[in-house]
Amino acid sequence: MRKNLFFLLLLSIIPFAQLVAQSSTPKPEYQDGPYIFMEDSKLVAKWLEKNALQTKTLEFEEGTPLSLSPFQEFTLSAEDLKHLPEKPKKVHFETEAKVAALSDVHGQYDVTIKLLQANKIIDEENNWIWGDGHLVIVGDVFDRGDQVTEILWLLHKLERQAPKQGGQVHLLLGNHEIMVLTGDLRYLHKKYRYTMAVFGVPLDSILSASSYLGAWLRSKPLAISINDMAFVHGGFSELLLSHLPNLEAMNTVGWEAIDADPKIQKENPLLDFVLHDQMGPMWYRGYFDDEVTTKKNANAILRTLKKDHLIVGHTSHLAITPLFDNRIIGVDSSIKFGKSGEILIREGDDFFRGTFSGEKIKL
Ligand code: ZN
Repeated sequence: MRKNLFFLLLLSIIPFAQLVAQSSTPKPEYQDGPYIFMEDSKLVAKWLEKNALQTKTLEFEEGTPLSLSPFQEFTLSAEDLKHLPEKPKKVHFETEAKVAALSDVHGQYDVTIKLLQANKIIDEENNWIWGDGHLVIVGDVFDRGDQVTEILWLLHKLERQAPKQGGQVHLLLGNHEIMVLTGDLRYLHKKYRYTMAVFGVPLDSILSASSYLGAWLRSKPLAISINDMAFVHGGFSELLLSHLPNLEAMNTVGWEAIDADPKIQKENPLLDFVLHDQMGPMWYRGYFDDEVTTKKNANAILRTLKKDHLIVGHTSHLAITPLFDNRIIGVDSSIKFGKSGEILIREGDDFFRGTFSGEKIKL
């Protein structure tokens, strides 16, 4: 009897003890930012440090780019602000140099860094060392992981470093950029809930068109081409190409759609189609379903685009995945899981998988 009583007592104590253990677990101390705003013609950086809001007015010293401790990837020059990011007029690029592509990094900064370092695109200090090469990020930097802002500032830095060596960085929008910019915050890592709480507004307001990162993101295309390759996050369905048969038209409609008010979106169903439809360029997955896409369909799509290869992200694979003799190549190598990843490399006519250890495997 006494033994039973002891057991009952023990059982009633366990949930209480668990509750105490949970409540004494320290809250994570988050750091996020910086987010840059123009306020009363002053440049203001705001960021999250140990879950509290920090604010600093930034001032340029002649010729010295701004940096901000502890954000090692953040730099901004007076030049950046003289010409606030504008939508690019050019979407087709030609180069004799190497081209690399990766996608769906989803806030996994450490994996991204390691992959770029292993493949000699950046050095140990995360600076561009890939000469005149072109690097394409095929969308989905946002959501899931907790180091999205760090990756954005890294790409912003590399985008400025690469042209000094004749190279170029192309960041394309994916469906998760579109989701965040249009206020669909379902997939945010919980860290960004702290950011939003201290800023007192949702993340889409922090990244509005009047903020620096917001303007910069809105200057990024949905699709580009380099030589004989086209790049887009999800893919081009035949339905999409019947409405928008070229990349210029697709980008123009996408840009208009991001900040279009709901009334205009309703009047023009193409706006919603480009950003949100399963058959649109941000969400399409048809190539990897062999009941939907055959080599014949793939060839027809490429003929419309006047290209030989289409590089896409969005559909996750364990490694870079070619289809139809490299006509279509999926580069989402599941970096989102935070363990490893691959990068596609094009040299001359050959495609390679650049692995996490820096090996090059011919496709
Ligand atoms: Zn995606």
